[in-house]
Amino acid sequence: MQNLLSLTIIVEPDRQRLVRFAMEAVEALGANVFSATNRLDNLLPQLRDDGIRAHIPVEVNLVLNDLSLNLSWGDRHETLAILTAPAAPDIVTALTTRLKHASELADSTLLKRRNEQITADLESAKQRARAEMEQLETLLETKKNELQQSIRTSQTDSLTGLYNRGGYDMRLHEAVLRCQRQREALCLMLFDLDKFKEINDTFGHQVGDEFLKRMANALRAAIREHVDHACRMGGDEFAIVLFSDLTIAKRVADKVIASMEGKVSIGIAQLQGIDTVETLIKRADTVLYEAKHRGRGQFVADDEVVEPKTAESKN
Ligand code: GH3
Ligand code: MG
Repeated sequence: MQNLLSLTIIVEPDRQRLVRFAMEAVEALGANVFSATNRLDNLLPQLRDDGIRAHIPVEVNLVLNDLSLNLSWGDRHETLAILTAPAAPDIVTALTTRLKHASELADSTLLKRRNEQITADLESAKQRARAEMEQLETLLETKKNELQQSIRTSQTDSLTGLYNRGGYDMRLHEAVLRCQRQREALCLMLFDLDKFKEINDTFGHQVGDEFLKRMANALRAAIREHVDHACRMGGDEFAIVLFSDLTIAKRVADKVIASMEGKVSIGIAQLQGIDTVETLIKRADTVLYEAKHRGRGQFVADDEVVEPKTAESKN
């Protein structure tokens, strides 16, 4: 006895497949196709009734005995066709392989299982991709923060924590562009400590450093945090990029002079429509020299008519 094929009958197309496979077997084994068709016509309603009664999918086997091809399901064994001679083993083997292959291709549970497997594979690939994406995003975020941090560090003066020369250049250029485009008020304030060398010479470099920090704090305290920019350009020279007009700038200057007990000179220039960064710096520089020239411990703004003084003329 040899089982050629097992089929699970669930829905109507399963029965049609059974008929197709059974008739293929009958033909391959050289049995009478016509009488097998008639047998099948009788067997199929019984198969359906048994399936309905059992409430479960019915497994049907196509079984080859010596001289008969049978259908069996449950406890039934029904003859489908009689063979005139035992089938040659190679024919049986080829037939079994072909039927198995054909039924697998069409088997709904198998297809469903394959579909489920493919869906599960896709889902896990999606999850892996999502996890990798999240990792990459985190890495990108970290790198962005590191980059921002290193930009901040590279633009910060290590002694005072104010913007350094590079930070100052960048902020001033941005401010000039923005305020000219939007016609907003902008002042550049330049500061130079008075007789700072004497502090160094008298009390030492460390006390000098503390004085520079005190100046930085005085600048911070005089401006709006996150709006105006305070910078140390180098040595005892400082600057404020102030997003206000001269009236406010003069008030800021007064505050800084008071905090530093009159030991600082200040030049203030307000941005004009025709200014470039260079002309603005030049005017602020000119009035700073003027403040030194007038005796230090004061500010001069560029709304005064100022005769440009040269560096040599400051005493
Ligand atoms: P003036 O009123 O004309 O500005 O006189 P001044 O003595 O302040 O002269 P100047 O501005 O040219 O001198 C700046 C001095 O600042 C010179 C230098 O020794 C000192 N200096 C520069 N950098 C530092 C620093 O990082 N720490 C300290 N303690 N001193 C510094
Ligand atoms: Mg100085």
